[in-house]
Amino acid sequence: MKNKKIWFVTGGQHLYGTDAFAEMNAHSSEIAAHLDSKLPVSVVSKGLVTLPDEIAAVFKAANADDECIGVITWMHVFSPSKMWITGFNMLQKPLLHLHTQYNKEIPWDSIDMDFMNLNQSAHGDREHGFIATRMGIARKVVAGHWSTDRVAKEIEAWARAAAGYDFSKKLKVARFGDNMRYVAVTEGDKVEAEIKFGWQVNGYGVGDLTDVIANVTEAEIDQQMAIYNERYEMNTDDVNAVREQALYEVGIRKFLDNGGYKAFTTTFEDLHNLNQLPGLAVQDLHYDGYGFGGEGDWKTSALTAIMKYMAKGKEGGTLFMEDYTYHLEDGNEMALGAHMLEVCPSIAATKPRIEVHPLGIGGKNPPARLVFDSKNGDAVAATIIDMGNRFRMIVCTMEVVENTHKMPKLPVASVLWKPHPDLATSAECWIYAGGAHHTCLSTALGVDELRDFARMCDMEFVLIDKNTDVNELQKELFYNDIIYKLK
Ligand code: MN
Repeated sequence: MKNKKIWFVTGGQHLYGTDAFAEMNAHSSEIAAHLDSKLPVSVVSKGLVTLPDEIAAVFKAANADDECIGVITWMHVFSPSKMWITGFNMLQKPLLHLHTQYNKEIPWDSIDMDFMNLNQSAHGDREHGFIATRMGIARKVVAGHWSTDRVAKEIEAWARAAAGYDFSKKLKVARFGDNMRYVAVTEGDKVEAEIKFGWQVNGYGVGDLTDVIANVTEAEIDQQMAIYNERYEMNTDDVNAVREQALYEVGIRKFLDNGGYKAFTTTFEDLHNLNQLPGLAVQDLHYDGYGFGGEGDWKTSALTAIMKYMAKGKEGGTLFMEDYTYHLEDGNEMALGAHMLEVCPSIAATKPRIEVHPLGIGGKNPPARLVFDSKNGDAVAATIIDMGNRFRMIVCTMEVVENTHKMPKLPVASVLWKPHPDLATSAECWIYAGGAHHTCLSTALGVDELRDFARMCDMEFVLIDKNTDVNELQKELFYNDIIYKLK
């Protein structure tokens, strides 16, 4: 991700003379270098801007630079905001307003008017905030001293969201087959999704894929089997069933890479010449970063690809997930999430096992799949639904817990969790909000990355967490409905 750049732009003006410009430029470079050392993306100082033309020029250049994924602004001194109007009008990259000050503490004994004039973001950044608010500029504001870890962490969440937004704008999703028949929540307006998020969602017949699969060689299957043997534990004698999945994986990967696709969907209602539902093949591709959604769910597939990209280099897993079944024991309510097969091993607690078992539905041969339990920890789950007049992202927080039960008759990968604030409240809110049964679950990302991403996309954002109250959430949904009808 270090090839992606955040531009650091410092505001000033000529009122106090130009004597301090060199010092302000040096401060700007120092802060940018510090953030560069803390963030997964590069932070580049673009120095001091002090005139409307300079501001417009730097934003115009940011727009034109493919590597630039966002801009941070900071007003070292007072920078009259009418100077920023032309620039803000043209800025197309995500914006973070860093409200900081070069000096951490007031030098009580030596403070004079020169110090005050050089360290006046306390009012310069307020002027900057006014014009952004007046112009309705979507941005993140982070306040605090630039050297602190908290400030770096908040900027990192935004930077990861900006990297995800950049990735989203170029994302292509391949759909093998259409939607699973009659399912509503996985449908949506692909034209609006391309306008809003940049996703190019293209449909293919399964025959288009099986044509590619037909040309996969035995040597290519052998290579894929070697990867399986290295990554996973082979817990089956049915090698042919595993080779079948290796064949699918090589074919799907070729298809995706040839077309520049970073995400895909399958549907078990449309498998035609495939003898098995792609299970292990999907799990391993998902592990390598390709987005996936089952049953034609292109929105969740795109979201998983974006969230995996955002989470690059972070501890934890990020994966396609489905709320499957509940444990409703009083005071110990939990949800067991899985899918028929396609759970990504990025969340596995131990080395996943390759097993072959019959599948209850679909009428195909017993598919090879990975079986494992998941790692514990704090997690978020996100979904995007199409409300008809807008997209809505719903995010809930949860704790993924250890599953102490063996479940010998359920040979699929699964995740067990306790939603916040409790299962009943979370589920009621999720259902009032219209959230899907498919999500992208992540133990690597937090709420901030997703909220920042939604803001960049100008998408409605609904959060269900420890502070959620079901009646307040219903009011929020009601007000949001009115607001979006006015937009
Ligand atoms: Mn499903």
